[in-house]
Amino acid sequence: MKLRRKVAAVRRRMLCLWLLLLGLSLAMLGMSDFLNHKDLHAADPSRRPLQWLPSPPELEVIVDSLDPAMELGVDTAPLKSLQEDQLLFVFPSAQGTWTQQERKRSYKMFKRGTFKDATAAGPLGSVRGRTGSIQMEMEQASVQRHGFNEALSETISLHRRPPEARHPECFGEKYSEILPSASVVICFHEEPWSTLMRTVHSVLDTSPRQYLQEVLLVDDLSQNRHLKARLGSYVSGLDGVRLIHSTRRLGVGGCRTMAAAKAKGQVLVFMDSHCECHEGWLEPLLERVSQDRSRVVSPVMDVIDWKTFQYNATQWPVRGVFDWRLDFYWELNPPLQEIPPEEAVLPLQSPALGGGVLAIDRNFFQSVGAYDPGMLLWGAEQIELSIRVWSCGGSMEVVPCSRVAHLSRHHLPYIFPDQEMLRRNKIRVADIWMDAYKKIYYRRDTLAHLIKQSESPNIAERLRLKRSLGCRNFHWFLSTVYPQLYVPQDKLALSGELYNVGTGNCADYAREEQQQGAGMNIAPCSGTGSQHCEFNSEGEVRWGSMGSLCMHVKGNKVVLSPCSAHQPTNRGLKWKFIKLSGQLVHQQSQMCVEAVQQAGLLQSKTGEVHKPTAGGLYLKPCTRHPRQQWHFEQLVAPKGN
Ligand code: UDP
Ligand code: MN
Repeated sequence: MKLRRKVAAVRRRMLCLWLLLLGLSLAMLGMSDFLNHKDLHAADPSRRPLQWLPSPPELEVIVDSLDPAMELGVDTAPLKSLQEDQLLFVFPSAQGTWTQQERKRSYKMFKRGTFKDATAAGPLGSVRGRTGSIQMEMEQASVQRHGFNEALSETISLHRRPPEARHPECFGEKYSEILPSASVVICFHEEPWSTLMRTVHSVLDTSPRQYLQEVLLVDDLSQNRHLKARLGSYVSGLDGVRLIHSTRRLGVGGCRTMAAAKAKGQVLVFMDSHCECHEGWLEPLLERVSQDRSRVVSPVMDVIDWKTFQYNATQWPVRGVFDWRLDFYWELNPPLQEIPPEEAVLPLQSPALGGGVLAIDRNFFQSVGAYDPGMLLWGAEQIELSIRVWSCGGSMEVVPCSRVAHLSRHHLPYIFPDQEMLRRNKIRVADIWMDAYKKIYYRRDTLAHLIKQSESPNIAERLRLKRSLGCRNFHWFLSTVYPQLYVPQDKLALSGELYNVGTGNCADYAREEQQQGAGMNIAPCSGTGSQHCEFNSEGEVRWGSMGSLCMHVKGNKVVLSPCSAHQPTNRGLKWKFIKLSGQLVHQQSQMCVEAVQQAGLLQSKTGEVHKPTAGGLYLKPCTRHPRQQWHFEQLVAPKGN
């Protein structure tokens, strides 16, 4: 009896203890929920938001282990958010078992399309039911802030799919059943919620699970709240998505290099944080990389309009190129000698690829030197990688049956600590990869030349890499990979700004009319290299950053139009420059170029007043008038570095 009572007492005590424990844990859960809730709606921005970290094994916490070699020269510290992110933490899917149901059970889920950015929620929340003009104002404000119409983007499904744009031949294409696994790396800095999550969902919705190792989201030290705890909590409910918060601002290349070191897939697919994938985009890319591990490939990049969010299919064929100012372009209908008959489905070799979406074998990426760690946050990294891949044994191509749309932007939304960051990156590209051809760049970007003279960028490490990989020189690149790029001769006294003695101005042209045959005009000499032109041994006067615009005439007006549109023997394109008199003579007509300055307002018959034109270049009978006297003024000396 005594014993039974004792046992009962012990049982009662145990029960109490259990109840106490249960009560405590319930209270804790409630608290954490409350704290988390508070964080979501915290009104006081100065208050440091509380981090809600789910307990292990749901969250793997890794102390920041960034390789110091990867850290860039530019440090944006002291940023406030640094304290919140002292840890680099990774949400797991690492174990490879994607049991969505399990994941969902342990995390709160935001319903699709219901999430609002705390800072953007105000405008969006209030838009519905109000007038169109308020909506327009808000859209304008969001364009101002993000460089695209984020207010409109928030009203569009996170799961929308672009309309079919692939060539019908693509549907007959067969891919290997065994393809390498892919890590889709999405680095972002202050990306709005809707575009970021539409990117993530479109990858998840369109990629066959057997090939998708993971989506690796990397927050490049964003400060916006929605990209912190809430993003972690949302993403943890998504199958196969890992999230890394960097504790340093790494920039586009640095961030991708860091992610590559953490990625587990055999192929890295770098993707911008505002993309939308087509059905079947991944397989053709993986197929091409698996056939040749040194092949770097890109889908056809369609365009999402920054204002309307409309999708615009890019016409095939298209390839990536760059010009002598080291700016990148997608070139439609490239002027290639041989276009294969089955061009609709055959990949097209490309001198360069944009950074929007890029698939590269992980080992090849590492062995070819990842991204240049000396590059600053943004710009020209795609050109650097392109020249390096080609020169050091790899190749690049655009794959037509793979399509991904990228959001075009009205303007860049970032505030960079360094105004001349892009130029500094270009200087690295020129100095490391272009040998003597770098002069062609510096003549067209004189500010870069000035910067370069006053600073000496540390490129020793990359030159060592270039040597150790046995990379070919830029002459090889130009003659083998990109023979279509015109190589300017830039002869002394026959190239530079075309200065007019009579007006004290320089010859220039309207950039926006380039394709139709831009009328030439005169404008104050810029000194920047933007007015650079050259008179070459063919007798052509070449303009534009590709050197592809030729001076010729329309009636008596001097205009520019694509050189390739004319026969090389076309006498209408040929000029003679008489150094002594400074006369520029049109060979066919034997007339001289004269700068005409038009002043005052022009009144038409209807009484309309037109703006004064900036003047123009006209063919006139040759005289000794100073307005027919020209000098080529070279701004960057031919010798030295
Ligand atoms: N990005 C980044 N860190 C930066 C700047 C950009 O992670 O310091 C990301 C950005 O969010 C985007 C990608 O890198 O996902 C490429 O940048 P962006 O889209 O601005 O380049 P663009 O497409 O305009 O060339
Ligand atoms: Mn982009």
